[in-house]
Amino acid sequence: MNILLFGPPGAGKGTQSAMLVEKLGMAHLSTGDLFRAAIKGGTPLGLEAKKYSEQGKLVPDSITIGLVEEKIKDLKGVSFILDGFPRTVPQADALAGLLEKNGLNLGQAVFLSVPFDLLFRRLTGRRVCSNCGNTYHLETAPPPANSVCEKCGGTVVQRKDDMPDVIKTRLEAYEANTAPLKDYYRSRGLLTEVDGTGEVQGVFERLKTALGH
Ligand code: AMP
Repeated sequence: MNILLFGPPGAGKGTQSAMLVEKLGMAHLSTGDLFRAAIKGGTPLGLEAKKYSEQGKLVPDSITIGLVEEKIKDLKGVSFILDGFPRTVPQADALAGLLEKNGLNLGQAVFLSVPFDLLFRRLTGRRVCSNCGNTYHLETAPPPANSVCEKCGGTVVQRKDDMPDVIKTRLEAYEANTAPLKDYYRSRGLLTEVDGTGEVQGVFERLKTALGH
């Protein structure tokens, strides 16, 4: 069964997807991670994506859908967790088409629910390892004082799109484009809502229960 995890920026999709992937042995398909890797590698896709993502804007649907199509084919039937895709109704329609074309389906669309003021706090305090992507937070899980990642020895940084003015744009893009996906998946009988507030482990327990594990 393939699963979609969606919600506003800062809801904890990346953290929870990584934990689910480890627990359930599924593949993790995160468009944000794929774009960041392409940007880091300086590929043509990365150069294009950078223009949008550093400003907190969505990368155009045509580019994003093409990327996901490629990745789904590469997975050759391994079940996956979608994290950060789809983020628009046209992307959701494209996903439905892609899944059908490849004889796959979506078992559940899980919405991680977190109030706006908490999202802002989570995003401004977030720090990430530029090498392995491990996440820290200034208040709840502070990075080492020397900014050396305790998992891999990489450098812990603040994502450019986690700067306050860019966060505002990202949250607006979410409201305008991604929030309508709740109704989209509700009307298809696929929506499950999970409370994304509180401790990481507590959210994970609720998520597993919602997924029947
Ligand atoms: P994320 O790590 O999921 O917050 O994604 C970081 C950035 O990558 C977003 O702010 C967008 O610029 C871009 N991005 C990731 N996923 C998508 C998507 N499904 N559609 C368009 N842009 C995306």
